[in-house]
Amino acid sequence: MKTKIISTLPKNDNNCGWIKQLPSRTSQPSLAREELADWVVLGAGYTGLATARQLSKLHPQARIILLEGQKAGEGSSARNSGFLVDSILNESHFSAAGLEEYRKKYEIKHAGVKAVQQMVAELGIDCDLEASGKFHCTATKSNEKKLLNFSKLLSELELKHKILEGEELRQRLGSSYYRMALWTAGGVMLQPAKLARGMLDKLPEQVELFENSPVLSWRKLSNSEGYQLSTPSGQVSCKKLIVTVNGFLASCGVKANRTFPLTLTAGLTRPLTAGEDEAIGRPDSWGVLSAQSMGATVRLTKDRRILMRNTVEVWPSINMSTADLQTRKENHIIGLKRRFPQLGGDLFESSWSGTICISGNNANVFTKVEDGVYAAGCYNASGIGMGVLFGTEIANLASGEMTEEIRMIQTNSKPMYLPPQPFLRWVVGLRILRDRLLARHEQ
Ligand SMILES: Cc1cc2nc3c(=O)[nH]c(=O)nc-3n(C[C@H](O)[C@H](O)[C@H](O)COP(=O)(O)OP(=O)(O)OC[C@H]3O[C@@H](n4cnc5c(N)ncnc54)[C@H](O)[C@@H]3O)c2cc1C
Repeated sequence: MKTKIISTLPKNDNNCGWIKQLPSRTSQPSLAREELADWVVLGAGYTGLATARQLSKLHPQARIILLEGQKAGEGSSARNSGFLVDSILNESHFSAAGLEEYRKKYEIKHAGVKAVQQMVAELGIDCDLEASGKFHCTATKSNEKKLLNFSKLLSELELKHKILEGEELRQRLGSSYYRMALWTAGGVMLQPAKLARGMLDKLPEQVELFENSPVLSWRKLSNSEGYQLSTPSGQVSCKKLIVTVNGFLASCGVKANRTFPLTLTAGLTRPLTAGEDEAIGRPDSWGVLSAQSMGATVRLTKDRRILMRNTVEVWPSINMSTADLQTRKENHIIGLKRRFPQLGGDLFESSWSGTICISGNNANVFTKVEDGVYAAGCYNASGIGMGVLFGTEIANLASGEMTEEIRMIQTNSKPMYLPPQPFLRWVVGLRILRDRLLARHEQ
């Protein structure tokens, strides 16, 4: 096997409002010499942290190394909108086959929600969990049918939900922007960076973490079974490798023709003043997902901040500069003003970017890539619960343990082939343009 050169390295901006709420911590040293390990886990987000934890349970005597290119737990796992979801809006035709397909996806996501809730309780992680459901909203008449169809589907699956309109909706959200909402009882809001930090703080001692150690290349060792990974100042050889880099899967040469990264930006305001809170009617905290693909994700948090996530794009390099973020922030301000015209000025304290991984058919990666190499990821922007579930289960799979969860995950379809580059970039870019146009009243 040839050496795989990693084409894009992670580089985070320092502006994430969720991370800014965390106590500061000192990073673990970077890899600085040659190391030998039984297991290497590549990438320390939710997936990699869950993988390393499970490996240590299964192999208490093994040497387990976790490699992270930046600060552990501060990539997309800290930068997302914090919706831990079981159901997602189904836009496809409502048929018996479609219902079964949806049920399978629901069951996996639901298992992800349970996995996070169980882990948080077991490890005593405080990540501001609020199990009060989520809202799917629309500001346009044409999308109301989607919500009504979704309601039918949820009824078929006997999932508790409710349609809200008019004054009831306005009072619940403190905004007259939306025409209709579908509330689902399933859906947990959390502070994503606190969850990632909690998982990091509770890593078993057996797991050796090297931070700021971007893997530049990896290759199969010729004389034995195993792999060698190289970072700028060190190398590690291992018997088994588990790749958990999500948005960087393609750049690491794993499922490169089946997954694609996209860059999202989000902004978080300062806490509303008592007067501002009064002006919007002091509603309870909430989380809104758009009925339109590419529409805005919005939250009112318990500490009275508003989160706005309303840009998606194909971005050539992974990090955004302060100037790039400033232009995205204009979108966050517009989105906030539309929903809350009574709140004046620029309330945003921070705007940041993060990467997601998508496939052409909404499928995930959970696989043995070749002998000794495994990978999990590609959660199509829904990776909080699935990251924790898939991380745990990929460790089981790589250790030869079969579980009910693995069986369930493996019934799902595999990511389809995508067109080669540069066509793929153009196709995705055009699709985003189209969706953005359709979502212009929902951003
Ligand atoms: C703005 C935004 C909003 C989102 N909202 C939601 C939401 O509300 N709900 C939800 O469920 N999901 C959401 N997501 C998606 C979710 O954040 C991801 O699915 C999840 O973080 C995936 O976790 P992970 O551990 O697999 O990947 P990551 O968190 O991306 O971790 C992968 C790690 O690998 C490291 N890495 C990459 N390449 C290398 C290398 N060469 N060497 C060493 N390390 C490397 C990275 O630095 C990173 O830390 C959102 C994402 C974004 C960006």
